[in-house]
Amino acid sequence: MTAHTAIGLFGGTFDPVHFGHLRAASEAKEKLGLGDFRLLPVGRPAHRNQTHASAEHRLAMLRLAVAEHPDITVDNREVRRSGVSYMVDTLAEIRGEAGTDRAILLILGQDAAHGLCSWYRWQELFDYAHLVVMTRPDSPASFSTQLESFVTTRRCNTMADLWRSPAGLLLNLEVTQLAISSTAIRQQVAQNRSPRFLLPDRILGYIGFHQLYPKADK
Ligand code: ATP
Ligand code: MG
Repeated sequence: MTAHTAIGLFGGTFDPVHFGHLRAASEAKEKLGLGDFRLLPVGRPAHRNQTHASAEHRLAMLRLAVAEHPDITVDNREVRRSGVSYMVDTLAEIRGEAGTDRAILLILGQDAAHGLCSWYRWQELFDYAHLVVMTRPDSPASFSTQLESFVTTRRCNTMADLWRSPAGLLLNLEVTQLAISSTAIRQQVAQNRSPRFLLPDRILGYIGFHQLYPKADK
């Protein structure tokens, strides 16, 4: 098992994608040495309210964001699937395709990891993948007691530890802190302020063209 054969999955709503996501994705891919790195837009999230832009728009924005970066791909399976998306089903499917030997890494920001215990069958995520938790601005480093007690025996200190098994471990990863959020970008668009330089220009153009995030949206 090596980093190069491992699959990295960076999940999120990406409503819209921004430089915080893209910089973290690039650093995680590089630091972990992953040969296969995928952005995985959630279709219909189970653990939060409906997204603001449709799944098709969120997918289109992601594709624009990485169009000139072929080493980062977009996995659209959740968007294609109808109904609510559960990460555990997605991971089971990807494990089925990858076979038993390749490592799969589910990569999340710290804020997303804080809500992990409310995800459907969350303990089973570790049957299919390792979890990599990236630093996120303004998000406390400690986990809930429930999550901490579950992961105590799964924590690993170095990346090399991850390549000893295909799934089941947790690693914290430092990435550059960019205090950018989709929520703040949506609010700025809704208030006719410019979120330029927080996300790629072509995504901003896409948002304007399709009039995403209008005033009524919060
Ligand atoms: P929203 O404000 O709508 O929740 P968001 O900016 O948090 O949007 P998400 O799509 O919810 O973006 O996040 C997808 C993943 O990216 C999550 O794991 C999240 O922790 C991570 N992430 C989001 N923004 C950043 C950032 N600025 N730096 C590092 N990781 C980030
Ligand atoms: Mg978020």
